Amino acid sequence: MTLPADPLAGPMVRSASAASAEDHLDDEQRAAVTAPRGPVCVLAGAGTGKTRTITHRIAHLVRHGHVAPGQVLAVTFTARAAGELRTRLRALDAPGVQARTFHAAALRQLKYFWPQVVGERPWPLLEGKLRLIGQAAARAKAGTDSDALRDLATEIEWAKSSLVTPQGYAAEVARLRRDVPGPAEQVAQVYAGYEALKNQAELLDFDDLLLHVAAALEEHASVAEEFRDRYRCFVVDEYQDVTPLQQRVLDAWVGGRDDLTVVGDANQTIYTFAGASPRYLLDFARRFPEATVVRLTRDYRSTPQIVAAANTVIGAARGRVAGSRPRLVGQLPPGPDPDFTEHPDEPDEAAAVAAKIRRMIADGTPAAEVAVLFRINAQSEVYEQALTEAGVPYQVRGGERFFVRAEVRRAMIAIRTAPPAPEGTDLVTAVRRVLAPVGLSDEPPAGAAMRAQWESLLALVGLAEELAAVEPEADLRRFAAELEARADSAHPPTVQGVTLASLHAAKGLEWDVVFLVGLADGTLPIQHAEGDEAAIEEERRLLYVGVTRARRVLRISWALTRAAGRGRQRRRSRFLHGLIPEDHAASRVAQGDRRRTGGPKPRCRICGEPLIGTEALKLQRCGACPSDLDTELLDRLREWRADVAKRQGVPSYVVFTDATLAAIAEQRPADPAALVAIPGIGSRKLDRYGPEVLALITEPG
Ligand code: ATP
Ligand code: MG
Repeated sequence: MTLPADPLAGPMVRSASAASAEDHLDDEQRAAVTAPRGPVCVLAGAGTGKTRTITHRIAHLVRHGHVAPGQVLAVTFTARAAGELRTRLRALDAPGVQARTFHAAALRQLKYFWPQVVGERPWPLLEGKLRLIGQAAARAKAGTDSDALRDLATEIEWAKSSLVTPQGYAAEVARLRRDVPGPAEQVAQVYAGYEALKNQAELLDFDDLLLHVAAALEEHASVAEEFRDRYRCFVVDEYQDVTPLQQRVLDAWVGGRDDLTVVGDANQTIYTFAGASPRYLLDFARRFPEATVVRLTRDYRSTPQIVAAANTVIGAARGRVAGSRPRLVGQLPPGPDPDFTEHPDEPDEAAAVAAKIRRMIADGTPAAEVAVLFRINAQSEVYEQALTEAGVPYQVRGGERFFVRAEVRRAMIAIRTAPPAPEGTDLVTAVRRVLAPVGLSDEPPAGAAMRAQWESLLALVGLAEELAAVEPEADLRRFAAELEARADSAHPPTVQGVTLASLHAAKGLEWDVVFLVGLADGTLPIQHAEGDEAAIEEERRLLYVGVTRARRVLRISWALTRAAGRGRQRRRSRFLHGLIPEDHAASRVAQGDRRRTGGPKPRCRICGEPLIGTEALKLQRCGACPSDLDTELLDRLREWRADVAKRQGVPSYVVFTDATLAAIAEQRPADPAALVAIPGIGSRKLDRYGPEVLALITEPG
């Protein structure tokens, strides 16, 4: 290990601003930050400050004149993470540094070099490749239903990311014993056909951006020379998830030089299914023997309790990363133990999570400091529904959706077209004034959908505050430009709502409170990983990523069936073995929250047994007891609900959930009092919909 040789590293020559920025670094972090220009590799676990280290390193190199800000290119894997890097760099007083995803950087470069390497007219990006793949599949006599096409698309993406050509495909998948969607020769034929159709149409897909940039730099000396003159210093975050194609681009960028800083954690490799490999990270020191290699083990993000859970999860991992598995050492004061809860079904799990979140928010936890993380996006819906019913604002992380929301687009237009604010008005006040007519009232409006819009507008005010803090002279025009830039790079602000995100989308992020939900075998690990040890290990790493997102509170839960009274019984995730105390209450079916809070237990109105599960509670009878549901009324109610939802522009469950409609159709309440007695119908919904619903019930069938 080489440690700092940089004479500028000493405290004596540090400027005041540098001192304040670097004071919050430990010795190992500082070694990486102040290492001289040249190869640097930080290998470290979650929460040890890798991202913090690279932003400080860039700021350090810039501040000490080792490199100009415009000569630095920092890359990472998601638009969100790239935006985060830019924000942190600006806060460290290093604006002007480019921080982008590989694809965004490639797109920009390609636009610039295209005329030199191809021709005047730029080839547009292909929007959705399924159509072309469908044509190619039909010609190759492969399956063309949408599932088959999606599988083929994923496989072609894997091949391109792995630098496997159509000609080499069959041999390579045979060598890897890869599970492929159809006979290898046929997949290769579809792949070749797709490439040909795309080239004929003069279109590019996302992987082509990277391929063309690499080729332009590799094959055109003048392009390479111009590029290398412009960019001199490269930084990669989350390097464990680099694909061979991205590595080829990186090699072309660096071009035989060695000013490259990489940071990563092999235990957080979660994209091998897409061709990523941690071997570039793990082999970095072999490739650059003179590299400064730093290992960090102090975890500054999480309480020792959460750090211990993370160590247990990853301690059970098998395979290559075993050698690189130093235990994390928690640095924060202690907090509560992680919590485990078993539920009879998913709606019950979601309702319990929503109820806990509501209590936490009432007790003062900011909603933006809470996340609910799951394995696949389809799990999101039941949580969206439960949070809506509990009146808790939330945002679904996919990030870029923020800037396409109707109210955000309206707000951006209003900001762009507003006349300049009167002399002396600060930016935040000016923005609030412009947004008032768009819907930014002083107090939050009632209703989940209205409330969500209001939260979006408030988030824009938050961005204005952020900008004003770093650029006090910024005006509305400057703010409008900042918003455009963020929308382009899909870097949304933090909305004051609970985050719902998949584990993949949560990488690199952190929250005070994290709910890891759906920890059942078949969901995590996911069903299709079964029987493939490498895939199971990737699932385990996903859990490690999830556990390490939490700063203080970690709550893990699972459900034994999908819906009440339906579906196969499941069991809790095998990964919880060793994590959850054997005598823990969650080893027995937990009774849902509301049933533990005392008071008379709700009972089935038919057989009188206690009710288990949210659906049963809504219907006020057990799933097994006879249903006297009026199906015609249910149809009428559904039609009415679809209508209302359309009129209001909200998802239908916001009006009433399926279970509530079923309960109405079954109980046929005759008056407002009977209607409001049905769970899921509060006084607000009664006011709003009561008369219409009661009319539907009395209407002759
Ligand atoms: P991940 O692997 O999840 O991406 P990371 O290694 O990139 O994690 P960071 O996000 O950089 O970790 O840091 C984790 C948290 O710890 C952040 O809140 C950061 O501000 C804080 N932190 C890092 N280093 C220090 C330090 N030396 N002193 C105090 N806080 C620190
Ligand atoms: Mg990080």
